[in-house]
Amino acid sequence: MNKPVIIVGAGLSGLRAASLLSREGVECKVLEARDRVGGRVMSTTDPDSPDLGTFDLGPTWFWPQYETTITHLIEELDIRTFDQYTKGAMLSERVESQPPERLVLPDHAVEKSVRIAGGVQTLVDAVAATIPEGVIELAKKVTAIRLDESGDLTVEADRGQGEVENLETSKVILALPPRMIARYIEFSPSLPPETLANLTSTSTWMAGQAKAVVIYDRPFWRQSDLSGFATSWVGPLQEIHDASPEKGSGALFGFFGMPAKTRQQLGEEEVMEAVIDQLVRLFGTDARNLEAILYKDWSQDPETAVEEDQEPLRDFPTYGPPPVSGVWEKKIAFAGTETATQFGGHLEGALKAAERAVFEE
Ligand SMILES: Cc1cc2nc3c(=O)[nH]c(=O)nc-3n(C[C@H](O)[C@H](O)[C@H](O)COP(=O)(O)OP(=O)(O)OC[C@H]3O[C@@H](n4cnc5c(N)ncnc54)[C@H](O)[C@@H]3O)c2cc1C
Repeated sequence: MNKPVIIVGAGLSGLRAASLLSREGVECKVLEARDRVGGRVMSTTDPDSPDLGTFDLGPTWFWPQYETTITHLIEELDIRTFDQYTKGAMLSERVESQPPERLVLPDHAVEKSVRIAGGVQTLVDAVAATIPEGVIELAKKVTAIRLDESGDLTVEADRGQGEVENLETSKVILALPPRMIARYIEFSPSLPPETLANLTSTSTWMAGQAKAVVIYDRPFWRQSDLSGFATSWVGPLQEIHDASPEKGSGALFGFFGMPAKTRQQLGEEEVMEAVIDQLVRLFGTDARNLEAILYKDWSQDPETAVEEDQEPLRDFPTYGPPPVSGVWEKKIAFAGTETATQFGGHLEGALKAAERAVFEE
């Protein structure tokens, strides 16, 4: 009997790889370090007020005008979507001492982006539901991959509390950020130096970022004909967008201009106070009447970021499959968005990389 293919990581990429393999009749297992599926996808509610809706602390959008793989998958899985709210003026904050500038962008200047009803987790859960029961194993962190002289492969996983499990496999699909592979998985024999160098130098998309979602009883800025979109040179948020659910409550989310190290030095409470002060400067005193605030600093997430990710990115990273030669060729394949040649970093890249890892010879 063939040994199952082992997929490391149950983010969108690893789940899609498992779904495709299962559809092809290939036995597989997904080993996931966290106790949940989705990885960087994280749609959540405020635990005290779940009725306010579900909000994305990881990815929010896809772009159907370019991203055909995710668009087709969403259609195939019959998932409901809605357009990002962009009606009205945007705000631009250049200096703290002056009120923000109000700008009305021409229609064609606003790129259409699309959201998933219930958050991106809806997509992840729908993909997971196509995988046979028992294939996904949570709370199993892969620590080593060994290839012996007769070509047999073994994956070692840490089940916590010092328990280690060894699983035999025919092939391993690595569906986790390249830096996490280089840092936490020991290969025996070692990976070729050029493979290791590539893994170490490939920065993880958004790993240095954080997201704050501030929730209100209604999207009050829309009454002032504001879209909720704002850019700021003052901070702490650099870019703000409307994150309201389709109906009911309102929400604004922002990406940080404040670097990861500064966020750490200040601590969450002070950072959140600065976020609310900034929203008041931009959207007026109504912004102080929040219902809840959700925050996720990905730079502190041990399953996503390593120390190098604390440094802000200087250039847009180059993504693609890492080179593999010698004994490891055909024994390992790389999925994960950072290994996609096109749309690397995006959900679309995560899906494309999964297809390549499954169907490449
Ligand atoms: C704040 C933020 C905003 C974003 N916004 C967008 C957006 O709007 N649109 C968009 O297209 N993309 C966006 N992205 C990027 C998008 O989230 C990623 O492209 C996508 O989720 C990556 O999926 P993945 O499966 O490749 O990796 P991941 O989701 O990182 O999955 C890797 C999995 O491997 C697991 N793992 C790690 N180490 C081990 C180990 N040793 N053993 C077992 N398992 C392990 C992890 O726990 C994780 O579940 C955003 C990302 C962030 C953080």
